[in-house]
Amino acid sequence: MTKQTLSFQAEVAQLLHLVTHSLYSNKEIFLRELISNASDACDKLRFEAINDGGLYENDAELKVKVTFDQDAKTLTITDNGIGMSTQEAIDHLGTIAKSGTKDFVSKLSGDQKADSQLIGQFGVGFYSGFIVADKITVESRRAGMKAEEGVRWISGGAGDFEVENITRPARGTSVILHLRDDAMDYASAWKVKGIINKYSDHISLPICMEKEEWKDGELINPSDEQGGRQPGGMVKTGEWETVNKANAIWARAKKDITADEYAEFYKQISHDFEAPLAYTHNRVEGSTEYTQLLYIPGKAPFDLYNREKSAGVKLYVKRVFIMDDAEALLPTYLRFVKGVVDSSDLPLNVSRELLQESRDVKAIREGCTKRVLGMLEDLAKHDKLPEATISAEGVTDVVTEEEKTEAATNAGKFTKFYNEFGAVLKEGLGEDYANKDRIAKLLRFASSTTDTLSVSFADYKARMKEGQEAIYFITADNAAAAKNSPQLEVFKKKGIEVLLMTDRVDEWALNYLQDFDGTPLQSVAKGAVDLGKLQDETEKKAAEEAAETFKPLLAKLKEALKDKAEDVRVTTRLVDSPACLVVQDDGMSTQLARMLKQAGQAAPDVKPVLEVNAEHPLVKMLDGSVHFNDLAHILFDQALLAEGGLPADPAAYVKRVNALLL
Ligand code: ADP
Repeated sequence: MTKQTLSFQAEVAQLLHLVTHSLYSNKEIFLRELISNASDACDKLRFEAINDGGLYENDAELKVKVTFDQDAKTLTITDNGIGMSTQEAIDHLGTIAKSGTKDFVSKLSGDQKADSQLIGQFGVGFYSGFIVADKITVESRRAGMKAEEGVRWISGGAGDFEVENITRPARGTSVILHLRDDAMDYASAWKVKGIINKYSDHISLPICMEKEEWKDGELINPSDEQGGRQPGGMVKTGEWETVNKANAIWARAKKDITADEYAEFYKQISHDFEAPLAYTHNRVEGSTEYTQLLYIPGKAPFDLYNREKSAGVKLYVKRVFIMDDAEALLPTYLRFVKGVVDSSDLPLNVSRELLQESRDVKAIREGCTKRVLGMLEDLAKHDKLPEATISAEGVTDVVTEEEKTEAATNAGKFTKFYNEFGAVLKEGLGEDYANKDRIAKLLRFASSTTDTLSVSFADYKARMKEGQEAIYFITADNAAAAKNSPQLEVFKKKGIEVLLMTDRVDEWALNYLQDFDGTPLQSVAKGAVDLGKLQDETEKKAAEEAAETFKPLLAKLKEALKDKAEDVRVTTRLVDSPACLVVQDDGMSTQLARMLKQAGQAAPDVKPVLEVNAEHPLVKMLDGSVHFNDLAHILFDQALLAEGGLPADPAAYVKRVNALLL
């Protein structure tokens, strides 16, 4: 094949622009990303070689070599992993396969500071090389292919790249970074070693560098590592040394691992720039043996709501990497968890299909789920500072300094978690029946009396009114619609708290939770209001009387609205509004039906019940009005508007209102 020039996929070009313009402050992460890719490539080779030992080509010692050349201004990362064919180089380095990339790129604002935050959630991978390089050459040959089937890929990181065929006896990949002038300090063993120690110590693969020594240099300043030694400078000795610990972090003893090391490993596998919120590391023994190292990120990834998004847990079998994104290891609602599971029992040649059926995997999945929920419960427990720590000085007798510091570092973490991932956690109500109660305890909502997402079902229950028999909630498209909904009027008047459910998933998820700890959950928009003991006798009587006197009017309204409303009745739930819509107890809410339709899915045509407020002047004047028909329709359409819906025929609504205004 002769040289070809090809264009990057549009999203790659945009991303590259961003990478080179907004990651200044995080320059050195490029090395972590490229070493991570090299390590993945070796993992992949080891995995493919399980079935085809020939792929090792008599070179089974997998490693990464990092070299630099100050004269040529290059830094090179070489691995003897799986390598790439020409087509793979074109596909993998010219396009981004992650689903949701387009959406992600469209969110970029051009504001470098904001964008660099976002990009941390996306993970720039290979392209991070362009932070320090103005040109990257990749030379590669796939394991098992002929030496003549090598490929060279070159790009300056703008709109396009070149590929050509080369002869490359060595299997694997070299990424040659042509360093920018302002990044020349990366062409130094001292600098590079420092970064490797920081980011890649726990990579289980040896990372090797050529040993250097001083030539005729004089030590002028011993406190400075470089020592001001000059004349011959550092010269390479031709010997190689391993510069990382090369020991899989999860296989080490917990007590020997620092919090920093845990955090760095997390950053490596998640491509996150920030430390995780929490982690758990355990060796599980018994009938199924495995090690789990699981993390809860501090920030949601850009594609969190994509349920098809890849899971975040890597599967190893006895230290051998088997697969990324092993979705069988955790339920979908915990897809934000990152980490590693290393099993001692599974066969090395386990496939995704096999994973789904394996009893060991089922045990691992249950174990991991329990651990994650346990971690979340722990965060929830320590979310608020204990009373003694917040009150003024003089409380040291109650809380030790150590406990205080610990409390301070843990406070607020659950709130942070919940704001990022709460909506996803709720999916668990429907997905994980066995843990439904534990999940329900972790949920937090805003309510008619609390604006932040902080009310748990338990908090709510503790505040229930005397005689209140249900946990009341309302679902709506957004907080304002929920809070100001007419359905809430009588609850506000009586001082009863109502939970506001405004996540898309709420309606669906709550279907699976009939009660919390014995107290039923009741939507305020479903069925007739039954405030039970919260309503006194006079109120009940007034309601019954109103229903009787309004009978003829209700019949007329029903006739006028027969195409729109299932029924029309008098209600006690309204105070200020003339009317509202509710659905039958077992019906799908109008809001869920609307959502399904918006998503292009089949939804039943829900005919709601129109409830009118017998005390409202507008309702009182209806009877005998010459505009009866128009008023009836306006009443209905306004009730729909008030809950965030849209009249079926908006123009007709406007016409009717205008006619009355005139
Ligand atoms: P990611 O690693 O998240 O998939 P990258 O942009 O870092 O994204 O890399 C894109 C793809 O390029 C990788 O998935 C892999 O297929 C390929 N690749 C990158 N580096 C190497 C390497 N050293 N050896 C083999 N393939 C590589």
